[in-house]
Amino acid sequence: MSENKQTRREFIAQNATLAAATALGVAAAPSLGAVAENAKPAILGGEPLATDSGPAWPIFVGDEEERLAQVFRSRQWGRAWNPNCVVDQFENEFAKIMGSTYGIAVSSGTAALTTALAALDIGPGDEVITTPYTYAATYNSVLWHWALPVFADVDLETFQVDPKSMASRVTENTRALLPVHIGGAPADLDGILKLGEDRDIPVVEDACQAHLAEWRGKKLGSLGLVGCFSMQITKHLAGGEGGAVITDDADFAYRMMEAHSHGYLPHSGAPLEECKGVRATNSRLTAFQAAIMTAQFPKLVGEASTRNENALYLASLLAEIPGVVPQKVYKQGRSAWHLMMSRVVEEEFGLNADEFVQAMQAEGVPFMRGYRNCDLTGYVRKIFNARAGRRVYSKKKLDDWAEATSLPNFEKVGNEGVWLYQSQFLASKEAMDAIADAVRRVRRFAPEIKKALS
Ligand SMILES: *Cc1c(COP(=O)(O)O)cnc(C)c1O
Repeated sequence: MSENKQTRREFIAQNATLAAATALGVAAAPSLGAVAENAKPAILGGEPLATDSGPAWPIFVGDEEERLAQVFRSRQWGRAWNPNCVVDQFENEFAKIMGSTYGIAVSSGTAALTTALAALDIGPGDEVITTPYTYAATYNSVLWHWALPVFADVDLETFQVDPKSMASRVTENTRALLPVHIGGAPADLDGILKLGEDRDIPVVEDACQAHLAEWRGKKLGSLGLVGCFSMQITKHLAGGEGGAVITDDADFAYRMMEAHSHGYLPHSGAPLEECKGVRATNSRLTAFQAAIMTAQFPKLVGEASTRNENALYLASLLAEIPGVVPQKVYKQGRSAWHLMMSRVVEEEFGLNADEFVQAMQAEGVPFMRGYRNCDLTGYVRKIFNARAGRRVYSKKKLDDWAEATSLPNFEKVGNEGVWLYQSQFLASKEAMDAIADAVRRVRRFAPEIKKALS
């Protein structure tokens, strides 16, 4: 932070207006923010605001190496045939922290999704309603089972899937609702859980970005039949790769245990004759990953309030700036702030989202574009037009499905969306002020920047 302050002091020194005002003995000097926002933007050759963008990710707490060494020396490197593996400890602690009864560790967030869908016996001809505004793993996990991802539109203010749009896409073939808590913020679970209950369709929560986020005081992932988590390196709990599923349903937990380990409970040696008919694979987590992550649980819990305070503060600052519309979080919920998603409205800001990101990166603020508006129906069609896929759905069926896929809000958030990544919110409060300064500065100079970039 001291570096950051230094930079701001330099700004004052360089600012001619302020120097002149001081020479004239004018008392009311502009605030630091005002100075920073009036100076020439970095993308036009000015000094970058050089904000503190938070710690390098992942962070280690110190205990990981010793725990890794313990696993190494114990020879219990994986859970298969090891009754006292650290993977079991990880599962128990993870389920508890996430407010659920059963936890099963898997090799990735994608494996968490495919495990949950396998345990639901999702297969060819089935439909799973989900959101287009997500990482490809969400709909790829549906396609992996030769089921059809049916895309519902998103809500413009929250970026989350719209339960009304989901309801309009239910057919006799719908076998699961797959909302994503995108950016770590909750989807509208009141609407989605009610839809699931009314139509008797299980809800699978993609909580891969949403560790410790909440809905009505309960942890995300614990409200539907099953919650799916990713522990890939960028996520809040980073194991390099890794994932988990959680559920309160004992029978469903058993089915997922089978699905992730070739039909066996990994160390029970249960005979195949006793398996429940769940298609299975090997998606087991290694003990090394489990060791790193169990060491990181206290950090995960500790970081949540820092992110929330900083992100809510920054969102309040950005909301004051015309043309930048930070995401809203439903009042029933609390975000984990994996991302802060905002829309850049060109007519009000003077730059489009791509230009905005370029100008902000030059200032040292790591804004990025998010998921873009793209031809998802074309993508899915390619898969079902390939040799094996042609057996599953007729051309007419896919035509009707594509025809019904209308996603105007997805297009808009895809075109206008910009993101800040979670580690930004582990920086100081002053860093949030500096981001807002940089946004105001870029907006003030938007016409010049647009010209320079065109
Ligand atoms: C990261 C992520 C996944 C997949 O997790 P992996 O561990 O990378 O397989 C799925 N859904 C969402 C929303 C994600 O962000």
